[in-house]
Amino acid sequence: MNCDYDRILLSEEQIRARIVELAAELDRDYADKDALFVCILKGSVFFFADLLKEMKTMPVIDFMAASSYGNATVSSGTLNITKDLSVSVQGKHVVLIEDIVDSGFTLSRLKEHLLSRRPLSVKICTLLNKPDRRTVEVEVNYCGFDIPDEFVVGYGLDYAEKYRNEKDIYILSRSVYGG
Ligand code: IMP
Ligand code: MG
Repeated sequence: MNCDYDRILLSEEQIRARIVELAAELDRDYADKDALFVCILKGSVFFFADLLKEMKTMPVIDFMAASSYGNATVSSGTLNITKDLSVSVQGKHVVLIEDIVDSGFTLSRLKEHLLSRRPLSVKICTLLNKPDRRTVEVEVNYCGFDIPDEFVVGYGLDYAEKYRNEKDIYILSRSVYGG
């Protein structure tokens, strides 16, 4: 294990098993709906791909990028949409696929923003959720794992753009980010 990590939090096998369950939940809820699944870049790319491959439903897919973090581990409080959707949300049931909900700021703003374009619905599916860190209320409709208040990396999640391509999810040592 890389010495930047305190310990492994979720193994590749644990992640895969939970994704199979989430895919079944989404299939149950979206099988008969006109759905648009949105990957929130970049952190959820691996989750998005693995989740969609497990699903039988075939939604339209698209990508969005927003940033509120820079290289810090605490939200800066402003949200920039750096890449917008290329398809319309009208007549669609939208599902936002996110890597992690922390303060709740990013997803509450993104959801509000998309709702203003009048889709049929907007739901949130996140791999990880840190309930102890919530400062902005946001309804998480599908959640892989509730995790403790620790900074985690791997399986798409980064610290300063690093560690994304690990197969497992690790708790980053505080000595790396001076926390
Ligand atoms: P929120 O707006 O505070 O909910 O933050 C959401 C974003 O912060 C996520 O999409 C991540 O990019 C980032 N983030 C929050 N916690 C972590 C973490 O533990 N590891 C890596 N990125 C994180
Ligand atoms: Mg990030």
